[in-house]
Amino acid sequence: MAEHALRRITVLGATGSIGQSTLDVVARHPDRFAVFALSAQRQHEKLLEQCLRFAPRFAVLVDAAAAATLEQALRAAGSRTEVLAGAAALESVAAHDDVDVVMAAIVGAAGLRPTLAAARAGKKILLANKEALVLAGQLFMDTVAGSGSALLPIDSEHNAVFQALPPDYARNPAAAGVRRVLLTASGGPFRATPAEALGAVTPEQACAHPNWVMGRKISVDSATMMNKGLEVIEAHWLFGASADIIEVVVHRQSVIHSMVEYADGSVIAQLGNPDMRTPIAHAMAWPERIDAGVRPLDLFEVGRLDFERPDFERFPCLALAFEALRAGGAAPAVLNAANEEAVEAFLGRRIGFLEIPQVIAACLERSGTLAVDSLDAVFAADAQARDWARAEIRNRQTA
Ligand code: NAD
Ligand code: MG
Repeated sequence: MAEHALRRITVLGATGSIGQSTLDVVARHPDRFAVFALSAQRQHEKLLEQCLRFAPRFAVLVDAAAAATLEQALRAAGSRTEVLAGAAALESVAAHDDVDVVMAAIVGAAGLRPTLAAARAGKKILLANKEALVLAGQLFMDTVAGSGSALLPIDSEHNAVFQALPPDYARNPAAAGVRRVLLTASGGPFRATPAEALGAVTPEQACAHPNWVMGRKISVDSATMMNKGLEVIEAHWLFGASADIIEVVVHRQSVIHSMVEYADGSVIAQLGNPDMRTPIAHAMAWPERIDAGVRPLDLFEVGRLDFERPDFERFPCLALAFEALRAGGAAPAVLNAANEEAVEAFLGRRIGFLEIPQVIAACLERSGTLAVDSLDAVFAADAQARDWARAEIRNRQTA
């Protein structure tokens, strides 16, 4: 058997959908990976279970009361895992000297600080937290370049594009002859829902994705297609692709995870069953390949692959994201923050499904005045956009 160095991993957002899939892959390869730290916002019960199974050095809970509960339970169980509380502790376990790899799987803008801390410390970063890149793309990519950390995309589309690009792409993108980046989209649960019916859809319907099991925020994003919009911006930063060469292709089977088209007409696609353990295992072992526990793709069972143009009228969030990417500056940060607020309001039944893009559009119109030239400015833009969005949501409730 080949010898591997044991890599110590911090999983940010360990209790979430991506976090759990990551630990599933870790558990299959105890000779390659050891868990250094696990984190969650407040889910102490699930984190306790994970701590007892993976025996990390640190467990972080942002919520102090939840951290105290976890601490008690771990001591009672005789565990030696040390519990840390508060958001600042996320940064320390992401940047710790003894960490090799950081899985960035916190949902939303809350993931930016710890992921940046990992980038500054030169860690290998497995990036699931697309919102961090949408919020602070330039800053994040500059930090990665400056520290020499390796950045591997976990989002299935970006992981597919990464796999379809030549290995030396980052060193000389111009020579690669990339003509288009084709991001596939399942179309979400409302792909075929008539426009008239969209106003009345519920959070439960929006969270019932046909192909993927995911957290609630990204599930709603998939239903509005803002998820694809955020991914367009993510692709721009990860691969230096302009909005003009990124195309969205609706492909309802979610078997082709994305494609790269080259100057000579070649189109390279990555296929597989829709299971996030594939991109996770790919990024964890890269440049090697390891078993991910994923069922082999049965093309005879799949039978056919369908493609459609995205409907920008029924899914205005996708158009808003392209608009924000083209506008540049603070527009993507405002798009992201307004979307987070609007999705939360939709999940809380305070606004309807069709109001999500309306809230975001109203905030985007005001984004021209904001700067994003420093981390403080990025967070100020994020906070300002959230204020605008909350006011917009309140107005709609009282209207
Ligand atoms: P999830 O809601 O299932 O899990 C989120 C995790 O983040 C949990 O562990 C939670 O405790 C933690 N968290 C939430 N808010 C936090 C805060 N304020 N501070 C610290 N921790 C916090 O989400 P998910 O579906 O696993 O998605 C995680 C990220 O991965 C998102 O950015 C999502 O867009 C991206 N992603 C997910 C999938 C998927 O299949 N689930 C696919 C591609 C990309
Ligand atoms: Mg994706």
